Amino acid sequence: MPVCFLLPLPPKQVEAKIKERKNPLEETIRLLIGLQDCDLRIRKIHQKRAEGPEIIKQLAETASQAEAQLQETRQGLENAKKERRSREKNLDDLRSKIQKSNLKLSSIKSNKEYTAVLKEIEDLKREKAIQEDGLIEIMEELERLEKECAAGEHRLDDAKKRYESDQAQILNELRQLENDLSNLLQERKTFEGSIDATLLKHYTSLMNHRGGPAVSPVIKGVCQTCRLHIPPQKFNELIRGEAVMSCPNCHRIIYWGEDERFQGLMDIS
Ligand SMILES: [Zn+2]
Repeated sequence: MPVCFLLPLPPKQVEAKIKERKNPLEETIRLLIGLQDCDLRIRKIHQKRAEGPEIIKQLAETASQAEAQLQETRQGLENAKKERRSREKNLDDLRSKIQKSNLKLSSIKSNKEYTAVLKEIEDLKREKAIQEDGLIEIMEELERLEKECAAGEHRLDDAKKRYESDQAQILNELRQLENDLSNLLQERKTFEGSIDATLLKHYTSLMNHRGGPAVSPVIKGVCQTCRLHIPPQKFNELIRGEAVMSCPNCHRIIYWGEDERFQGLMDIS
């Protein structure tokens, strides 16, 4: 190390000086990872920013569907009530007709007429039985629709409450996202301003065309983004850390991920 010759200091102090001195490659990799971290967070914010209004729209649609469904059930219930009234009226009519015919029987003289009125009563009773069965069916339908209405009212109430509370929460989150975004853009500028222009151009092109990440660790000789082995000679060069290198397979900027200086810098999940 030339530093040892240039600084005539005791060994411990020399070691401290060496540690203090920034390795340009280490600094470059740190800056690139920092910039990438900003960019990936900015990208996530943009996604969330787009998702928020979409979720609000879906919640509003769910509430309006619940309302339309409830309206339909209520209409069905009204129709069923009309049907019940009509069948009850028919039954009342039939009952009074049967009563009249029964009264008529007592004043009839001829056998023929008597048989005719008996037949008339029988027909009226048959019709009455049909109407009674229909009334039972409609009463069952009414009971079902009333339960469905109550459930529909509950659903609508829930959907409205969820829309209101989630909308408030999402709008709040959107405000927070705007805040985070402005901080990140500021942070990004600091990183950007410290990176060499050519390298920055290469990084930007990788981020835009590869869909990110542009910087990838290599662990045990495997690029952690494309998951392919890099040739052993290249891996040795990477460990030596003398220059910025690219993955021969995916062309991303690579660094040695097992190097303790870069531990925990990048979330590669
Ligand atoms: Zn790769």
